[in-house]
Amino acid sequence: MFADLHLHTYFSDGTYSPEELVAQARAHDLAGLALTDHDTVEGCPRTAQACAGAGLEFIPGTELTAEQDGAEIHILGYCLDIEDPKFLAEISKFQLVRQNRVREMVARLNQLEVPLAVESVFALANCRAPGRPHVARALVKAGLCGSLDEAFERFLKKNRPAWVPKFKMSAADAINLVHDAGGAAILAHPGLNHADEVIPAMVDAGLDGLECFHTKHSTVMAEHYLELADRFHLLVTGGSDCHGMSKGKPLIGTVKLPYQHVDQLKARAAALRAAR
Ligand code: AMP
Ligand code: FE
Ligand code: FE
Ligand code: ZN
Repeated sequence: MFADLHLHTYFSDGTYSPEELVAQARAHDLAGLALTDHDTVEGCPRTAQACAGAGLEFIPGTELTAEQDGAEIHILGYCLDIEDPKFLAEISKFQLVRQNRVREMVARLNQLEVPLAVESVFALANCRAPGRPHVARALVKAGLCGSLDEAFERFLKKNRPAWVPKFKMSAADAINLVHDAGGAAILAHPGLNHADEVIPAMVDAGLDGLECFHTKHSTVMAEHYLELADRFHLLVTGGSDCHGMSKGKPLIGTVKLPYQHVDQLKARAAALRAAR
């Protein structure tokens, strides 16, 4: 039995609906999945329902953007109570930051004489956690850019004219936020961060695990992080980070996590909740 614990839908920057995502998971013979949309759990209820209908186990989750010693890192929260009022109030702040960032990016585009309407971005995004991919899609849809790549290259990439930096909480705040919502906190795709030196401080802050298996991790990298997980007594997770069609081809099915790790993750979250 296998699971994919890193997946996005159109409730953040993916393209699949929850139902399409679950159909794909089923087609790849997965026994369970976690939804980890950026800064939101909006897609969790529908994904849970689709999983129940398809006989898959569903793990509620989210992916938070944070910062540790100047390095951008992503924290995955799993087995969260997605109805916890304090948690929902906290992440709604990050959603507001995202919405205001879209307004700021569009204002910069308008200053550059690119006549994009902010309403068209929000209508297309149709979720609480919009981001640059939605601005890029709206630019293409309005005929103002020929492709998503062009939109990023000309305007949206870091340090391009319509790029706006994103607010980032500290890694410790992200870990505490996940723990306070009854979940386990995992460092996402550490191989992409090139900042292993920040891991010990995060372990001190309560980090529960490392995403050792990820589409962009080589076999050597996965082994390296398995070793680190062992050394720091951390959980091991993995997932494809599939965004549907938004980054070329769908990645679901390319990373299959053995189910023992899902059981260990659930046990840790249960223990954390019991100790709350
Ligand atoms: P945001 O969270 O709003 O900063 O947007 C990040 C998203 O934009 C991620 O899903 C990235 O994969 C996507 N993205 C970043 N750079 C590019 C690029 N050059 N081309 C296409 N998508 C990109
Ligand atoms: Fe993403
Ligand atoms: Fe990420
Ligand atoms: Zn992701």
